[in-house]
Amino acid sequence: MSLEQLKSREQSSEFGARAYEFVRELFPICRSITGDGVRRTLDLVAARVPVQRYEVPSGTQVYDWQVPPEWNIRDAYVKDSGGRRVIDFQQSNLHVVSYSVPVRQTMSLTQLRPHLHSIPEHPDWIPYRTSYYKPAWGFCVRDRDLRSLREDRYEVCIDSTLAPGSLTYAECYLPGASSEEVLIFTHVCHPSLANDNASGIAVATELAMAMAQQKHQLSYRFVFAPGTIGAITWLARNESGLARIRHGLVLGLLGDPGPLTYKMSARGNALVDRAAIHALGTIGVASRVEEFSPYGYDERQFCSPGFDLPVGRLTRSANEAYPQYHSSADDLSLVAGRHLGESLFACAHLLEILDCDGTYTNTSPKCEPQLGKRGLYRPTGGKGPGQFEHALLWVLNQSNGQRSLLEIASRARLPFAVIRCAADALQRTGLLRETSLEARTT
Ligand code: ZN
Repeated sequence: MSLEQLKSREQSSEFGARAYEFVRELFPICRSITGDGVRRTLDLVAARVPVQRYEVPSGTQVYDWQVPPEWNIRDAYVKDSGGRRVIDFQQSNLHVVSYSVPVRQTMSLTQLRPHLHSIPEHPDWIPYRTSYYKPAWGFCVRDRDLRSLREDRYEVCIDSTLAPGSLTYAECYLPGASSEEVLIFTHVCHPSLANDNASGIAVATELAMAMAQQKHQLSYRFVFAPGTIGAITWLARNESGLARIRHGLVLGLLGDPGPLTYKMSARGNALVDRAAIHALGTIGVASRVEEFSPYGYDERQFCSPGFDLPVGRLTRSANEAYPQYHSSADDLSLVAGRHLGESLFACAHLLEILDCDGTYTNTSPKCEPQLGKRGLYRPTGGKGPGQFEHALLWVLNQSNGQRSLLEIASRARLPFAVIRCAADALQRTGLLRETSLEARTT
């Protein structure tokens, strides 16, 4: 299925159902910022789209950061004196603080207690906690279970390794007619959480699959990497190619019921910002736009002042903006195929604008050209023009070689797809000449 098909509401729901199946497959994997969970995740992406994988050795300096040792975990538990696992990693990988150092000790509840984390307001949810850069260990538990623990001798085991290895990421690069690029970035470092971040991985993969099915003007680079350190590592290794990036989008949290939320780039007036505002405002979805802030996901790195790339972010609920965020309640029941499908539908409309926006010149600007004789206008008079006919008039009136189709679509308050269709039809009759193409090829 192609991006064209994704732009249809009905067909996007089929994509959404397939994306949900992918979320289910991704969900059980114990991911972190390094390790075999990331590799298994990228294997599943690689089974769907062609990817190039990269392993960056632990200790590599990336700007002010260092690639950490690689973390892997096989098992973890807390057993009471009766040998019963009162906390068990095999039940949920959220039970272990990610990046916990290995532990094998017997201790009292008083000694164990500082290493246990819970959410008292939601006593049945297991929190998700990490300790990437400070050597530590801990368990995350339901508050209800925490309260039921009695003083005892507990056998504590975290069978993990923190050792020199590498940070893994993957890129799916889809070359277009131009080497100018659209960067799509999604993080792949969270364990069993469905919305954050299995939904982002699934949506980015579906988009790459759709984009691979059709011709496009720009080149597309989908990056699947761990959050923060992965984005920083990617930037450090790709600095010389950043000038090719025309537009960028960070994707995540795209399967929950919240309205689609676009977060502006730090520039605030990049084409991707204007395109997202236009797309979300014209395709009939519940949506909102947030101003940029230097907090959130990896837009923080791309929009840092040393790069200031035109990269926005698309989520549904934003990070920390839904109660289930970073807890076991961010599970498969929070995510639905119809939400994933709608997210894909919106992405397809946004990417269409990025790929197809251009400027044109009306070759017959003195009075309206006669559209009927060119088969562009409905032959029956009396009835007002439809949306497409309106789009023809707008494109002819506004195409002075300076205004882009996006500007025209915004002024006309018509979906970009309709304006683009009108421009294509006018171009076929010779009434419109692409100006941006001349600019691109000279
Ligand atoms: Zn997160």
